Amino acid sequence: MAHIVIAGSGFGGLTAALQLKKQLKNTDHRITVISRDPVFIYRPSLVLVAFGKKSPQSITFDLAPIYRKVGIDFVHTTIESIDPDSKMIATSDGSLTYDKLIVALGEKLNYDEIPGLNQYGYNVCSVDGALALKSALEHFKGGPIVVGWSQFVQTGGPAFEVALELEAWLRHHHLEGKIQFIDPLPSLWAPAGPEATKVLTRIFSERGITRFGPVQVKEVQADRVILKDGQVLPSVLTVVTPPFRGEDAQSRLAGTESRGWLQTEKDMRSVQYPDVYVTGSAVAFEGPKQAHTAMLQSEVAAHNLALELNDSSAPRQEYDHEMSCVLDLGKGQGLFVRRSLWSKQHQDLRVGRKWPLAKSALAYAFVHTPLFKQWGISMSKLNP
Ligand SMILES: Cc1cc2nc3c(=O)[nH]c(=O)nc-3n(C[C@H](O)[C@H](O)[C@H](O)COP(=O)(O)OP(=O)(O)OC[C@H]3O[C@@H](n4cnc5c(N)ncnc54)[C@H](O)[C@@H]3O)c2cc1C
Repeated sequence: MAHIVIAGSGFGGLTAALQLKKQLKNTDHRITVISRDPVFIYRPSLVLVAFGKKSPQSITFDLAPIYRKVGIDFVHTTIESIDPDSKMIATSDGSLTYDKLIVALGEKLNYDEIPGLNQYGYNVCSVDGALALKSALEHFKGGPIVVGWSQFVQTGGPAFEVALELEAWLRHHHLEGKIQFIDPLPSLWAPAGPEATKVLTRIFSERGITRFGPVQVKEVQADRVILKDGQVLPSVLTVVTPPFRGEDAQSRLAGTESRGWLQTEKDMRSVQYPDVYVTGSAVAFEGPKQAHTAMLQSEVAAHNLALELNDSSAPRQEYDHEMSCVLDLGKGQGLFVRRSLWSKQHQDLRVGRKWPLAKSALAYAFVHTPLFKQWGISMSKLNP
């Protein structure tokens, strides 16, 4: 019997745990999930929390009962470090050992890289962050605004949605506010491709949102954002996603990788440690880090790990990096993009009224029905 530990229980960890449990049915292997959050947070809906359209309770669910129902052990604690040599995980409540490990610890928001960002900036990456922005909006009297994401961020979609929501919010409240959008990419939405960039550029221009990019952030002050190229943007409301890096808890596994990410092969197994799989934002792949990519990677990791544990010689799966995203453009419109980044398999872009509805139906199904959180419906089968 093997003890499999899954570190983290966001999109990556939850999917890996449920898929693995399904594939190991009728075996006596034991699965333990560790998470420092006792709840699952449906992060794509955090923008709506910031704008008062959803409550934190309506986008979260308790993890313990979900895992109890399917026969997976759940430990609510913080992982301090992972020692891949002794296969020991140190947590704030003691240590435990593993035979096989799946790391799904997400990303760390590294405020330290930009002076003033933590003090004067807002972001929607967590429930606390979204609520802080909501409170700032309640006191906002108008003035110049900077929205966007800083260098090393690999999730851009939320900043687009914040900019578009903010423009509608200012109009609704009859407030003046020039929105300046900053990002470090060569074009506005480079990973989504030129067509998506064209659509978004047109929408930004129609709504009076000005893009400054590619730029990197040097410092944030109470009334301005200072960019590395010397430009100074006046800003009394700064909503900028902080730089990403790997969680400290995985640093021994990351070794010398410059931003603390974990390198894997396409089968999601660690390059250095054969008993370790990695999924979600923790992986060192370039390009977008999404819930979508995390879930696809977890399906691959769970499949391949189950083959190993079942001593099966069936073919192993390989992950094919792709982004898939619906941007709510406001005014009832949405933009759907699905794009393979390593192959040409999917190159799909659609604009229409059904996409915002599809986005909110998916959010509802994830949080309020057993489809994903209990039955572990596969993400790869859901795409239109
Ligand atoms: C506002 C917003 C909107 C987004 N919209 C979309 C979207 O529309 N579509 C999309 O595909 N993606 C979207 N994303 C991106 C998506 O949410 C992330 O890519 C996804 O959450 C990554 O999944 P993950 O499992 O790797 O990490 P996470 O979901 O962050 O989960 C990490 C897990 O690890 C645990 N953890 C971390 N450190 C420790 C530790 N030291 N000890 C124990 N546990 C720990 C956490 O508690 C958590 O359970 C959005 C993100 C944001 C912030």
